[in-house]
Amino acid sequence: MYCPICKKNKTVLIWNNRLRSGKNKWTTNKKKIFQCKNCDLVFLEKKNKNLEDNKIFRKIFDGSNSVGKYYSFNKPREKFKLKKIQCYINFKNKKILESGCGAATNLDYLKKNAKLTAGLDSYIYQNHVTKNHKYYNSLSQLKKSKEKFDIILSLGEIEHKFDVQNFVKTLIGKLEKNGFLIFRIPNFDNIYKFILNNDFLKYDYRVSHNYYFNEKSADFLFRKLKLKTFVKTGIQEYDFNHLLEYFRTRKRVKNYKKIYNKKLIDMTNLYLEKYKVSTSLLYILRK
Ligand SMILES: [Zn+2]
Repeated sequence: MYCPICKKNKTVLIWNNRLRSGKNKWTTNKKKIFQCKNCDLVFLEKKNKNLEDNKIFRKIFDGSNSVGKYYSFNKPREKFKLKKIQCYINFKNKKILESGCGAATNLDYLKKNAKLTAGLDSYIYQNHVTKNHKYYNSLSQLKKSKEKFDIILSLGEIEHKFDVQNFVKTLIGKLEKNGFLIFRIPNFDNIYKFILNNDFLKYDYRVSHNYYFNEKSADFLFRKLKLKTFVKTGIQEYDFNHLLEYFRTRKRVKNYKKIYNKKLIDMTNLYLEKYKVSTSLLYILRK
């Protein structure tokens, strides 16, 4: 099996079992996942194409693809990530594009100080996005447009792509000369995996993720596409109390006790982010 990014034939099979195929569902057949020993990329043997489409993906994995569901599920999660990004770059007076914008909660928040806001996502969000923002229903429609952007956001998206290099290249083509391209990527080398191993992986591996990145493989991909790293940091999306409950029950946790206080948790999260063993990675890149 050749690595789709570095093209080396140095891959090893790391999973040959059922994959999560919905909220609490697993495939009946075993699926293979490989890891490249050269660039560290982890990838699904048979990549899925239709789960790039948020209409299908959100229905299966979030239970619904409605605007209401997007608001309740994504709004608080996304706001937290946006606040992190705002520590590093200024959105004021900028032309901003969000790929995978969903019901545009981020764009709504950014709009008042921006020069232009635009979103790319499935047509199911079209009526909602076009109320306040420029809208693209597909990557090819974006490609055809003449608009360029100062900031392009793609948060929790590249792992779903069928052809991740083509996707990133298209976004690079839409970036102004001094613009920023921002990715939030789930981190394969996170503390949950290191502590729980298969009790974490059986929930984390899913049919909708064609790729799993860590710092090394993300660095490799972006370097290959000639992008320069402006900021690279971890983003820890859950607190340590959540991990402790997962550790105790060996099952994905919804509710958990707040055993340790916010001060301790914040400090721990900073370390997890610093050492890049957090649940996600944040890359701010330039051409
Ligand atoms: Zn590779």
